[in-house]
Amino acid sequence: MPLIDYSVADGVCVLRLNAPPFNWITLPLLDELRVAVRRANLDAEVRRLVIMGDAGRFSAGADVALFRDIRSAEDAVRISRIFQEAFQEIEDSAKPVVAAVAGKTPGGALELALACHGRVCEPGTLFSMPEVTLGINPGAGGTQRLPRLVGVEPALNLLLTGQALNADAALALGLVDAVCSADDLVRCASSVETLRKTRESADRIADHTANAAALAAAVQRDAATGRPEFVAPSAIIEAVQTGLSESFEAGLRAEQDQFARCMATPATRNKIYVFFARRDLAKVPDLTGISARAVTRVAVIGMGSMGVGIAQAVMQAGLPVTVTDADPSALENGRQRIRESLEKRVAQGRLSPERLTKMLTLFSATTDWQEIGRADLVIEAVFEDVAVKRTVLGQAGRAVSDHALIASNTSTISLDTLAEGVKQPERFVGLHFFNPAQVMPLLEVIRRDGTSAETVASAMQFAKTLGKTPILVRNREGFVVNRIFIPYLKEAFSLLEDGAEASAIDQAMVAFGFPMGPLTLIDMAGIDILALTDAVLRRAFPWHGDLSAIVAAMVEGGWLGQKRGAGVYLYASGNRERRANPAAQEIFAAERQRAGKLPRTVGADEITQRLVMRMVAEAFRVLEEGLAQRESDIDAAMVLGSGFPDWRGGGLKYARDLGLENVLRQLEMLEKQLGKRFAPCKMLREIKGT
Ligand code: NAD
Repeated sequence: MPLIDYSVADGVCVLRLNAPPFNWITLPLLDELRVAVRRANLDAEVRRLVIMGDAGRFSAGADVALFRDIRSAEDAVRISRIFQEAFQEIEDSAKPVVAAVAGKTPGGALELALACHGRVCEPGTLFSMPEVTLGINPGAGGTQRLPRLVGVEPALNLLLTGQALNADAALALGLVDAVCSADDLVRCASSVETLRKTRESADRIADHTANAAALAAAVQRDAATGRPEFVAPSAIIEAVQTGLSESFEAGLRAEQDQFARCMATPATRNKIYVFFARRDLAKVPDLTGISARAVTRVAVIGMGSMGVGIAQAVMQAGLPVTVTDADPSALENGRQRIRESLEKRVAQGRLSPERLTKMLTLFSATTDWQEIGRADLVIEAVFEDVAVKRTVLGQAGRAVSDHALIASNTSTISLDTLAEGVKQPERFVGLHFFNPAQVMPLLEVIRRDGTSAETVASAMQFAKTLGKTPILVRNREGFVVNRIFIPYLKEAFSLLEDGAEASAIDQAMVAFGFPMGPLTLIDMAGIDILALTDAVLRRAFPWHGDLSAIVAAMVEGGWLGQKRGAGVYLYASGNRERRANPAAQEIFAAERQRAGKLPRTVGADEITQRLVMRMVAEAFRVLEEGLAQRESDIDAAMVLGSGFPDWRGGGLKYARDLGLENVLRQLEMLEKQLGKRFAPCKMLREIKGT
């Protein structure tokens, strides 16, 4: 099958990318594209070329697998050069070439469009240069053509943030020449009048003072991030600068060299590793050939923090949702919270008012189980209490039809314990959302031994319908994310008890790369939640050991975190500004004394080592127990579910990068000093040499 379909009508040659499902740009596709452009130039019938994809999709960009296979600087330069030369040939075409673009058009796809002499797009098109988020610079001419087309400042904004630009904004910036409907795309591309080579456009880069100011501001912003591990922003700035101060050709060479520089860094290689780890999550070999049952109507039981978010996520996916709660006031509250959250999206321009109106009609609240019974998926999100959950799951099972799925959003309880209340245990599955459910990208899909393959396939499909990344995990208390993350939060309290400052603990983990420190996070989630979840985990995994008595004292004193205005930190009302909470500090000191610990200074290195190694030790146990399908799934889950820095690759990849021999030594030492919770599992002892 050709990767480029060639057709000519009325003097217009349409080159249609034909590499389903995403039209990734691969080396064979580039070859065929070059051949097709030459053929069209020789074809007397052809006056103009139009490069396009299929309905609603131009191309999803360069195939990232190409980057994964790069082993040396020469490889990197070679790949970049192949792309640059192919796009150069398009730009050098004697007959005009217009790109007709649709859908998400990131990276290499946009660079292809930039090399054409004109561009048109459908109204829903989104342009972006997301390379920076993968830790690389665009290597196919993007750092050179984009500034020439739209100006240096807007180009740097796109290149350095990876943010997407919609069709109207692209038109206003001059990135496209026209926006037209899908059926009119070819005609529209055929009639673009101002055709020119992007590399020869000079008017947008003519103001040298403005260019210098934009570059200086970008350098400053990059320096302010304080992340020397990320070289991509400086690589982008360097390539843009070279192209402006020397020449387009010098800029292309700088792009190649900078690409090689980025690819040589561990941070970039880890980001690419996580990219593929995320992609592999959805692959479930033992479900091949099993068809998923479509979910068309959802019911959510329990309108607490999670139920509300789950209902909103369902509505955002365009599915109707019926909700219920034992407390009638929770229903109206839930409706109100969803409306407010969606209205915020409208105010931010992320949702149209028309879609909001439509979305709100998808919500209904009821106290009638018959109504709940009409759903083909019921999600239970009531209190984390075995008896309450069993009762609710029993009621749901009796109410629904024989084909409906029943799911629990429990964060810790084994599904086997809950399955006893369910009438159809083969259709019972765990759907563990993260808080806030309407935002967080990960969804743990938990299968018990008794869960049918069709149920698992349907749950995985449902997760994708919601736009979530599902990870399939086996059933054991805490599943994968909480099993690893709760011990980390718990260790933060052990550190407090040993004398570490709260702010030092948080700062150490932010410096490690987490978006926020563990104590800030637990203040957001609720300190009582840590006590509850830990109780379940500690029963199942005795080596986790006791939770610091600080937690019980804080719960008893009502210092639960942000929801009460104070926890580890004190929060000024109305905003999230915080300072030390003197009452909490008194508790830390009192518990330290009660535990007989002498005050000592706990340094940043000890904090980081204990917190990270606690996660690593537990992540290897999760791997050993076969709870995830593959090692990289655990890494992806740590990145998506708990904010482990992607540029460190997730906990297991981080350990592998450190060297397992080294990790083993650290864990053995920590075990000796602090106890069994750090003991390396058997598997880690055995694989350390591999
Ligand atoms: P919550 O206390 O905020 O809400 C629970 C809701 O369930 C309340 O509105 C309550 O009225 C309702 N409820 C209680 N008994 C009921 C019954 N018999 N019938 C109908 N409704 C009933 O709790 P939450 O934080 O939303 O947690 C709900 C579930 O989600 C728990 O299993 C929890 O472990 C899990 N979870 C929580 C989080 C989190 O961060 N909060 C994250 C993931 C999963």
